[in-house]
Amino acid sequence: MKNIHPQTLFILFPLYTLPCFSIYYLGNYSFNYFIGFLLTWILIGGIGLELTHHRYWAHQQFKVHKLTEWIISYIGCLSLHGSPLFWRSHHIMHHRYTDVDGDPHSPVKGFFHSTIGWSIDKENLNKINFKYAGKKMLTDPYQLALQKYYYFIVYLSFFSVYLISSSFFWLCFVPAVFIAFHQGPLVNWFCHRKGKGKEIKISNLNNLSLVTWGLSLHNNHHNNPSSINFSSSETTVDFGYWLYKLTLKHV
Ligand SMILES: [Zn+2]
Ligand SMILES: [Zn+2]
Repeated sequence: MKNIHPQTLFILFPLYTLPCFSIYYLGNYSFNYFIGFLLTWILIGGIGLELTHHRYWAHQQFKVHKLTEWIISYIGCLSLHGSPLFWRSHHIMHHRYTDVDGDPHSPVKGFFHSTIGWSIDKENLNKINFKYAGKKMLTDPYQLALQKYYYFIVYLSFFSVYLISSSFFWLCFVPAVFIAFHQGPLVNWFCHRKGKGKEIKISNLNNLSLVTWGLSLHNNHHNNPSSINFSSSETTVDFGYWLYKLTLKHV
């Protein structure tokens, strides 16, 4: 326990307990709630986490209006992956030190570490250097506020959604956040795997492309991190790129 970062438990606890309570509301379920869940997941997992935290902030693959940047940065925080500042810093380290010392979530240290463990391990989190985010982001007051007040912002947002509509909260919002959060661990586990030798192999998994918004086309992404389209052929589909063309490309 002494190696666990205590604040991260404020994220993991609701992440794994709230969906259990959603089950009690299933009696009210209707198709409308399914559509509500899908739209919320597209917003938080697709636009927030994959397009904003990953493609916009970590790789700067496209530009948006400043107001849009503020809105989507906040939405990305709801995926429970931390602030854009935290995400950009650890993801730049992941690309720079892929599967060697310095990679915050390498599978070399095992399944649990590469999926959930890395994000609650105090020692590991202390190694994430915000200097990788660069001076521009480190002097942006809005981004610094998202980092400083991250837990408060998340809890206030969850509570506000609950107050606005408790049935939407349990049947749309909570399941959408749960799926969005696991996009990262899914890729870390399935796309960075030990090969026959001891070396780590990075794969493209087209059948996980929808649920991870294209991030599972992972070898393509590692080979060409500045490209916004992770697809390399007509048989692979980057759903994140489709979502970008439908939404953030225009704002
Ligand atoms: Zn990777
Ligand atoms: Zn990346």
